[in-house]
Amino acid sequence: MIEFLNTLGGKKEVFVPLVPGEVKVYTCGPTVYDFAHIGNFRAYIFEDLLKRFFQFMGYRVTHVMNITDVDDKTIAASNARGLSLKDYTEAYIQAFFDDLRILNIAPADRYPRATEHIPEMTQIIAGLLEKGYAYRQEGSVYFSIAKFPGYGKLSRIKPEDLRTSDRIEADEYEKESARDFALWKAPKEGEPVWETEIGPGRPGWHIECSAMSSKYLGQPFDIHCGGVDNIFPHHENEIAQSEAYSGKPLANVWLHCHHLIINGKKMSKSKGNYFTLKDLLAKRINPAVLRYLLLTTHYRRVLNFTFEALDQASAALQRIKDFLYEIETASFPPGRSAAVPELLAEARTKFVDGLSDDLNISLALTALFELIKKINVLIKDGKILADDAIETSAFVYSLDRVLGVLPSTKETELPEELRAKVRDRERARKEKNYGLADEIRRELADAGVLLEDAKDGVRWKLIKKNE
Ligand SMILES: [Zn+2]
Repeated sequence: MIEFLNTLGGKKEVFVPLVPGEVKVYTCGPTVYDFAHIGNFRAYIFEDLLKRFFQFMGYRVTHVMNITDVDDKTIAASNARGLSLKDYTEAYIQAFFDDLRILNIAPADRYPRATEHIPEMTQIIAGLLEKGYAYRQEGSVYFSIAKFPGYGKLSRIKPEDLRTSDRIEADEYEKESARDFALWKAPKEGEPVWETEIGPGRPGWHIECSAMSSKYLGQPFDIHCGGVDNIFPHHENEIAQSEAYSGKPLANVWLHCHHLIINGKKMSKSKGNYFTLKDLLAKRINPAVLRYLLLTTHYRRVLNFTFEALDQASAALQRIKDFLYEIETASFPPGRSAAVPELLAEARTKFVDGLSDDLNISLALTALFELIKKINVLIKDGKILADDAIETSAFVYSLDRVLGVLPSTKETELPEELRAKVRDRERARKEKNYGLADEIRRELADAGVLLEDAKDGVRWKLIKKNE
């Protein structure tokens, strides 16, 4: 039973997928006017945890993340640099994908771009005009919030605070200025223009997500994610547009991750406490440690980023890696104990129970660290056998399918000279030259390569001790 605190309604609810065994997730992606900052990555890593956990639990996940490559910000920034919108945004789109790879964020199934979905947007706007939810004003089209009785249900805005006789042109604004918002913006000097069935112009930001989510996931879909900043006006407006247009709910569950602050203060470029991933890599921060830190504060709590917190994250991650190194390199007597399989089963249950409770990552990690502690005691007492060691290591790697913080063990990462040594050792073993085989095994262990002799031959893992 997986439960989430649904922003829509504000209650903890048991998650029931629309199709058993499948989850359709839409997450608001980057507005590509600049490099993403670590507050953005906090949200993307929370969404990655959500997705990996569902996959771990056997669900088939379909994940769509949009790319906002036309809006107020991208237009202003490309004009300031004297570049076309396409040329300007392309560099930031590629930088965004690079950052995702570096942070080991599993790719979405699709990354639709707003500029490639204008007809889908104008179709919804035309429908809203026809149904009377939208109206034209000086070449633009606005959504009439007074016509949609559900307006405010996500952000819990009070109807008496709505300024229903007023309009707002900008994509982003505060709750206090809730009013009719732009679905379609009239042509303006220095802005891109599309010639469409509803006239010339360009989309407002909110309609982009309504069009791209329903195109690829249908309506309703299971889960819509974003940061708390998105609740109003962005997601409130998405709900109004999509539900008024189709008469169906947009998404069943809405999850929002909280802010990231730096040293207790709001992140701000002018105060110099603003970091992109590149800024942190330049300070020689290990991306796996950064991922660990961003992952391990519960998504609904404010995350206070400090360099001390990063050191603590590094120490915690190192504890896991040291444990794996120990269990994979030490030699244990053959066989399997009665105690270890039980400990692994118990740890798995606690890990799953933790994450099933609205992604309580602290409970999940406690399960892992308790296991490490208990196994270390057994190692000290000489009670761990060879099969226990292999199974414990495999278990920790299985949890890492959710956490994504351990070094990868892809074969291509093993340099040829080490691969040659693995082959030499195999040969020595086949020739029953066990002295030489053990010697090569030790050499490989010193280089961080751990061997497991399995029925179908030898398997190896790369453990970089001081990574
Ligand atoms: Zn969005």
